[in-house]
Amino acid sequence: MKVLKFGGTSVGNSQSINSVIEIISDYLKRKEKITVVCSAMSGVTDDLINVAKKAAKGDETFEENFLKIKEKHLTTLNDLITNSKVEKPKIFVEQTLQELYSILKSVFLLKELTARTLDKVMSFGEYLSCYIIAETMSTRGIKCEFLDARKIIKTDEQFGNAKVNYEVTTKLIKEYFSKHKKLQIITGFIASTINGETTTLGRGGSDFTASIIGAILNVDEIEIWTDVNGIMTADPRKVQNAFPLKAVTYEEAMEMSHFGAKVIYSPTLLPALQKKIKIRIKNTFNPSFKGTLILPREPNIKFNMKGISSIDDIHMLQVEGSGLIGIEGISARIFNALAKEKIRVLLITQGSSGHTICLAVFPSDSIKAKRAIENELKLEIFEQQVKRVEIIENLSMLAVVGEDLLNTPGVPGMVLSALGQNGINTIAIAQGSSQLNLTIVIKKEHLKKALNVLHDELFSARKL
Ligand code: ADP
Ligand code: ASP
Ligand code: MG
Repeated sequence: MKVLKFGGTSVGNSQSINSVIEIISDYLKRKEKITVVCSAMSGVTDDLINVAKKAAKGDETFEENFLKIKEKHLTTLNDLITNSKVEKPKIFVEQTLQELYSILKSVFLLKELTARTLDKVMSFGEYLSCYIIAETMSTRGIKCEFLDARKIIKTDEQFGNAKVNYEVTTKLIKEYFSKHKKLQIITGFIASTINGETTTLGRGGSDFTASIIGAILNVDEIEIWTDVNGIMTADPRKVQNAFPLKAVTYEEAMEMSHFGAKVIYSPTLLPALQKKIKIRIKNTFNPSFKGTLILPREPNIKFNMKGISSIDDIHMLQVEGSGLIGIEGISARIFNALAKEKIRVLLITQGSSGHTICLAVFPSDSIKAKRAIENELKLEIFEQQVKRVEIIENLSMLAVVGEDLLNTPGVPGMVLSALGQNGINTIAIAQGSSQLNLTIVIKKEHLKKALNVLHDELFSARKL
């Protein structure tokens, strides 16, 4: 059996949904056993977040946003089912949207939007898209069932980014699939607590849904169908010459997605890796192309540099002071203080003189991080051993990713001289101890040029 997951752009309108149904039909014609996971229509999750936030501000124009969401789904349904069979699903979609409207109206009246309510609001995206796809397939004679993943994936109560309870989920998935033999069209991204409250698995989480189900059912392969030809050497929207890779390891894929490559959501890799299930990234709009295979490392395959990813917006925190050298366990204290506040540190560098420690964080975390560090070092700051923490803004971070990066001689040199020759200053540089990435911080205004320059330098001569 295979799990096929179709992302937002693959189900973004009636035309692309027709392409998806064609791909599914081809599998069925070949008598391959599959189960299908789909995302919300592209843009819908963002639209749902925005409409909920607007309602929470007491802005009555939220109704206009709601109507746009409603129209998008009803139009798609009408385009897909053009005969009288549309009546029943139309009533169901309208009733579902009415339920969404009632929730938004309460948010508007109370002027309050909790993470719990936002998860409920977001869940309508996957719920509606999958229902519409399953109904369309049924009316075309393809036997299938719509499956709301809240029935089979159980999580904790961390709304917005819930953690899966594998013990319960494994039992539920095995039980469900042993009784339901028809093709399942499953909602990605959404899950529920043991008490049945809606949760979500983090943005981009439909990939993760596919991997959870695939690992528990021990499938032969997980296919992630998207709008590009696979994992590419860089984000094709930013680097013109980016090209698709034939194969990458789980670790490389994880590293690239950690550093901004949205093509796969990084938690997805873990369940597949644990069961050694291969993941293939495929293009819905170019289905005959082989795509990229994510697989365990095989000793006879040479893996070198695989790609360049970027996080476009970061802040650096500079902790500086002559006294820094003498403070025992300073890095550990800083890390602990940040961990307590649940702040993700993207990079850390410490000069050999020990006078300065630099940390990169997401902009939304920088003030909280500054406070946490200053609070931890308040005595040292008071005694003027350490200066107050400085925040440097308008920065980007790029990472060259590949197994054996360190075994490829001269990579850091090549990277730095290519940047230098093009007038791009490096603000900080770090090589991950995993030997999987070389990370560089530059000014945001230089990002696009830096990505293209480095791509030409490192990848122009080869197709890996
Ligand atoms: P889906 O809706 O199918 O989940 P996403 O938008 O989440 O698709 O991810 C696919 C997008 O990821 C591509 O359209 C591409 O712009 C972007 N992307 C960023 N980095 C890379 C990369 N290295 N390789 C491929 N795509 C990338
Ligand atoms: N619809 C969700 C999102 O936009 C999940 C996904 O598409 O993977 O984040
Ligand atoms: Mg995605």
